[in-house]
Amino acid sequence: LAKDEGRGCVRLFSPVIERRSFERLVLETGLRGALERDELVLHYQPKRRIATGEISGLEALVRWSHPALGLVSPARFVPLAEETGLIVPIGRWVLATACAEAMAWQRRGFPPMPVAVNLSPRQFADGSLLADIEAALSGSGLAPELLELEITESMVVENLASTLPLLTALRERGVRLAIDDFGTGYSSMALVRQLPVDTLKIDRSFIRDVLANPEDTAIAEAILALGKALDLTIVAEGVETEAQESFLRDHGCHEIQGFLFSRPLPAEDVAGFVRSYELSRLKAVAGAGAGG
Ligand code: C2E
Ligand code: MG
Ligand code: MG
Ligand code: MG
Repeated sequence: LAKDEGRGCVRLFSPVIERRSFERLVLETGLRGALERDELVLHYQPKRRIATGEISGLEALVRWSHPALGLVSPARFVPLAEETGLIVPIGRWVLATACAEAMAWQRRGFPPMPVAVNLSPRQFADGSLLADIEAALSGSGLAPELLELEITESMVVENLASTLPLLTALRERGVRLAIDDFGTGYSSMALVRQLPVDTLKIDRSFIRDVLANPEDTAIAEAILALGKALDLTIVAEGVETEAQESFLRDHGCHEIQGFLFSRPLPAEDVAGFVRSYELSRLKAVAGAGAGG
């Protein structure tokens, strides 16, 4: 019997689990110093306004440039940062950096482009959020209406009594609010109507098979109808094909974000992307005007 128990124990520490917890340990130990060692970087994914083709903004997406592991995705370390509370200082850094980089492009002569920053539940519950946003705005000189904060349904649903005043305060400060991954949480239409948000982002999971899967088609259509009824901007995430974009155009979606338009770009590549994209747009317009 004891032997059986022993075996059971051994099975718990299978190589897979051991490797996972080892990786976790490496990441967790390293993450504590990542900010001080300046190892975090932001990539920016451009969004496109469907009607005009213009760039409607950029979403800042954090990456960890790890000395041994290379570029680590936020899917791997944000949950860890969330658990340990490190997401609060990391999120503060993301806010300040995104505002500063957006302002730097503007100073170089690029048209003002709104920048979106993802907030985590932990940051949202932490009392310093308003002060952090204030510091990011005044430190960079960025106009508040060029900063968009992405929250998720669960952040709001779980504690409406405390989050609603915070959202209202943010909105009064002039920043924009978007609900990210919309459709995956449990918010009701009545709740969305109460929230001072500007934008809903349709989660990528509904866009992937939006043409082939009738349920996804129905969900996307319902979100687009809701957005229309409440006068919200609707952004589709994870758009990878022309067919998805034309479906979205036909159904009144305002903006797309996804690999079809661009992958997230390192900060130093953004200016080049914007310049060559705007140039090709101008050429297309000129070409059409000349009847050629
Ligand atoms: P998200 O906010 O929903 O960001 C969109 C994710 O979808 C990004 O993944 C982006 O690279 C990916 N994506 C964009 N277009 C496509 C596409 O066409 N196809 C596919 N397959 N994927 C696409 P990423 O950068 O790995 O970020 C993952 C998540 O990590 C984000 O999801 C967000 O929830 C979180 N995250 C990223 N940066 C931050 C941050 O600064 N703070 C916090 N709290 N969370 C962050
Ligand atoms: Mg997001
Ligand atoms: Mg999203
Ligand atoms: Mg998503």
